[in-house]
Amino acid sequence: MAGNDEGPAIGIDLGTTYSCVAVWQRDRVEIIPNDQGNRITPSYVAFNETERLIGDAAKNVVAINPTNTVFDAKRLIGRRFSDPLVQEDVMLWPFKVICGENDKPVIVVTYKGEEKQYAAEEISSMVLTKMKETAEDFLGSTVKNAVITVPAYFNDSQRRATKDAGVISGLNVLRILVEPTAAAVAYGLDKMSSSSEEKNVLIFDLGGGTFDVSLLTMVKRTFKVKSTAGNTHLGGEDFDNRMLNHFVQEFKRKHKADINNNPRALRRLKKACERAKRELSSMVHTTIGIDCLYDGIDFNSKITRAKFEELNIDLFEECIVHVEKCLKDAEMDKESIHDVVLVGGSTRIPKVQQLLQDFFDGKELCKSIHPDEAVAHGAAIQAAILTGQGTVEIRDLVLCDVTPLSLGVRVDGVKMSVVVPRNTTIPTRKEKMFTTGDDNQTSVAFPLYEGERPRASDNILLGRFVLSGISPAPSGVPDLKVCFDIDVNGILNVTAEDKATGSTNGITISNVQGMLSQDEIERMLEEAKRLKLEDEEHKKRFEAKHSLEDYVYKVRAVTRKLTDAKKTESEIESAMQWLDEHKDAERSVLENKRKELESIWEPIITKL
Ligand code: ADP
Ligand code: MG
Repeated sequence: MAGNDEGPAIGIDLGTTYSCVAVWQRDRVEIIPNDQGNRITPSYVAFNETERLIGDAAKNVVAINPTNTVFDAKRLIGRRFSDPLVQEDVMLWPFKVICGENDKPVIVVTYKGEEKQYAAEEISSMVLTKMKETAEDFLGSTVKNAVITVPAYFNDSQRRATKDAGVISGLNVLRILVEPTAAAVAYGLDKMSSSSEEKNVLIFDLGGGTFDVSLLTMVKRTFKVKSTAGNTHLGGEDFDNRMLNHFVQEFKRKHKADINNNPRALRRLKKACERAKRELSSMVHTTIGIDCLYDGIDFNSKITRAKFEELNIDLFEECIVHVEKCLKDAEMDKESIHDVVLVGGSTRIPKVQQLLQDFFDGKELCKSIHPDEAVAHGAAIQAAILTGQGTVEIRDLVLCDVTPLSLGVRVDGVKMSVVVPRNTTIPTRKEKMFTTGDDNQTSVAFPLYEGERPRASDNILLGRFVLSGISPAPSGVPDLKVCFDIDVNGILNVTAEDKATGSTNGITISNVQGMLSQDEIERMLEEAKRLKLEDEEHKKRFEAKHSLEDYVYKVRAVTRKLTDAKKTESEIESAMQWLDEHKDAERSVLENKRKELESIWEPIITKL
């Protein structure tokens, strides 16, 4: 456990579309605003000819520089390139993703005129670095420790990759926390003092890219996840895309032109759609207006809330189906739910709230926690608990997560033999006995899978190891004990032991296919440091250029009054021309120029 001397520990909600950072300070949670004054930061990274941009600055250039602005990295993290969901996304993204080693997706961008390749972990680490720096600026000290959240649906590989992203950003990841549990922590604190009886809470988290519904039970000071459901591919972005498609069709009808083949026009229109969607949460109709959208044609149109709902109603209704599934998994009926909590920016949509409220027979929904901040809020509390900060009241909180999917071993070549059923509370340790299938078999392979399908190959292959040194015996005789160990972060370690000979084997992090090796993490850490230095150098160069420009203007202002202004005037003229021609000059060149000009002008100015 990290101690107090390591500085404040922060909580980071690393969202698909937006991220948020919070810290426990003076006995309460502070949501930390970024350099733009915003309490949430777009999970965007942009690369261009001269610099790397992260957050708001990156999102702002998405329309100008669509192929080099990366977002949605969370959709790729810990996944295979061949994953159908990844394939679907790649089709929609304006940036390029290719298949790397071990079927790992690789993001390709052009940075400073060169082609660069980044893993999703690296892009996420850049966003995390931005959040870390936001906190450091706010706190005025370095920050080392953090709790990072992931959706409840994240499997082992996705959690581990998120942890790697934290490491690459230079953070010590105290814990990977599931988002609904984090929201429940934030929510629970508000309510807890007044009641001590058992409470069932449904967390409905509809964000930009993922939808999670979770059922938690709160007993005294313990949160337990009873069940989770949802869709990793359902959220605000989908609603934006529906509206986008609607306007693309309208444009086609009106102007006989297809915007689909112009990525820049598409991005601009999509941005306008997101804004319109937000407006429709508080207004019943709104307008869209974009100058020169396509081929010099201006686009102006209107959309009503009713039309927006019609475009998305099947997606909204799907949310309710997941709520029903979550209740069914927990063997609970809706009457036993005490509170329904709204989390995620998309829960601001009135129709979503109405459908949910109708499902719960008119029950009041809990909206007291700001939906975009609840997760970071809870993560900050958890970070304070883990570093021994905060009050006794919060330190007593115990948090329990569950496994989102069943974990098991493939047997008889096809069948999935579940060792850890889905929705098991973690940390956990489960054992199961296996045996050989052939006579005198001395080694057995253990392919490990995650998923609910009875046929193992329909599930996700996590990794594989072989136990050898089994003493020869007829098939079915050897006792092979397999142990699944899941730690507090939801990270899995599997071992197998032959009871007769005592030989053991197991699988460790680096053996899991598609994972980053220690070497790769080291390389990415180096790359992250190098990029950071480059960013700093870029900033300094920018400052040197500004300071030189400022100086020239200042001298022009003060020397105007001189009687023999002519001479300096022409010098200033040529200095300005020089600046124009050296826009992209190195910092040292700019600094030397300033020194050179100072040596000429300072003697004149001081005389004035
Ligand atoms: P994530 O955690 O998935 O990154 P958030 O919970 O921050 O996402 O939610 C982001 C989504 O919420 C975006 O799609 C955004 O357009 C949407 N959103 C934010 N405010 C509103 C609003 N007032 N009405 C409708 N949708 C909104
Ligand atoms: Mg979220």
